[in-house]
Amino acid sequence: MTEKKQTHYHQMIPDHVLQCMRELSEAGHEAWLVGGAVRDFCLGKIPTDFDLATDATPDRMLVIFSDRRILSTGIRHGTITVFFGAHPLEITSFRKEGTYSDGRRPDFVTFTSCLNSDLTRRDFTINALAMNENGLLIDMFGGCDDLSDGLIRCVGKPMERFREDSLRVLRALRFASTLGFRIEPQTSDALRACAVLLGSISAERVWEEFIPLICGGNVGPVLENYDDVIAQIIPEIRPMKGFHQHNPYHHLDVWTHTVRVVENVPPEKTVRLAALFHDIGKPGTFSSDEKGVGHFYGHEIKGANIAYDVLGRMRSDSATRADVKQLVAIHCIPVSPDEMTVRRRLNQYGPEIFNQLIDIKIADAKAQSGLCSGRIDALLESKERARECILLKKCFTKGNLMINGSDLMEEGMSPGPKMGRLLEEILGKVIAGELSNERECLIRYAKSRLLQGSFDSEKDG
Ligand code: ATP
Ligand code: MG
Repeated sequence: MTEKKQTHYHQMIPDHVLQCMRELSEAGHEAWLVGGAVRDFCLGKIPTDFDLATDATPDRMLVIFSDRRILSTGIRHGTITVFFGAHPLEITSFRKEGTYSDGRRPDFVTFTSCLNSDLTRRDFTINALAMNENGLLIDMFGGCDDLSDGLIRCVGKPMERFREDSLRVLRALRFASTLGFRIEPQTSDALRACAVLLGSISAERVWEEFIPLICGGNVGPVLENYDDVIAQIIPEIRPMKGFHQHNPYHHLDVWTHTVRVVENVPPEKTVRLAALFHDIGKPGTFSSDEKGVGHFYGHEIKGANIAYDVLGRMRSDSATRADVKQLVAIHCIPVSPDEMTVRRRLNQYGPEIFNQLIDIKIADAKAQSGLCSGRIDALLESKERARECILLKKCFTKGNLMINGSDLMEEGMSPGPKMGRLLEEILGKVIAGELSNERECLIRYAKSRLLQGSFDSEKDG
């Protein structure tokens, strides 16, 4: 039963969005704010992204906005992007979708002049709200109640809706993770039953939902309760579930431990993914010693390779893929908080990876048995030490040294790998506190090394 509710949310609609809504209504059309923005208003949040729906067809919109800059890449699906000054806005013609024969995309898109039909094709009740420029809110499916109860519920019959487009399975988990909502039981049962259909969805669409899911504030319960669904995308996680570690440092099985680590690292893509994969190499490397204690020698390297393969298959961007691989590979290295170690690690990994590494190590220690709690203070201290080093511009890269290649060339050295090695040696000594990072001192040292002849000053190679 459709509810209409007068709200004051329209007072918070940004000017450029209002401008767009007015231009549509002056041209004799309806303009409704839909999707995430209305949901955010109802939750008391300020939306950043605004989607509009209208009864104007795409062709009509091209005429109405002919004086503006337009991107029409989505026009086949009824969406055009119109620029209001520097602000792009996506406007979509009301649609009622046709049948789905592939569980991915409707076979055809039909435009309609009816808002209700458009709302009926939307995925969840909380996403099927619409609001006009006067703050009138249309709620056909009890979306407002579900928002206050914290529930993800399908519009219509869950099985049918997930069969039509199985990406909705993942979207349900995404919203449960980002909003901290529960999934209504029938919707939950249906999404489990349809999870296997996720295999037909393109990697790109899966990635777009998976990243916000893994970065959500409620990711822990979602991973814990829906590991079977996640395993449809990443089957490599399956052996982790229930894998007993037989080790005094670990009171949790590999999957439960992993979930704890994911939820305890900051909500950022690279570090959350690295947390997800950090122990994925464990089941494949398990061995047990004569006392029955479990070991996982080399699990970090095995895990790094698995993560790299999975992320390739998921069409991750290459920087994220490489960083995650590195973080998984190094997650076991010891980091003590003394300045020399911290500067060495900063040099090896760079500040960003170093900080992410510490975040993972802290979350990892927190998710182990009480035996590891002593490590946390030392890790926090390492992080603080790194912050100081960066703030005080302490030297930990060749670029921070008070001499460079030109200085060595003036001493008669030719550029090349040997010069690089000498600078590397000098940096090592500066980090170790054996040389002070002052020009005179470093030149003197370089000269002495060149005189020793081990760094050829004639010819490099
Ligand atoms: P966000 O704030 O994260 O962008 P959103 O709800 O706006 O969340 P979008 O992916 O931008 O999510 O989708 C916009 C709206 O389009 C949704 O709120 C929903 O109404 C509808 N929608 C998107 N994808 C689907 C789908 N696969 N099936 C049905 N409706 C969908
Ligand atoms: Mg959106």
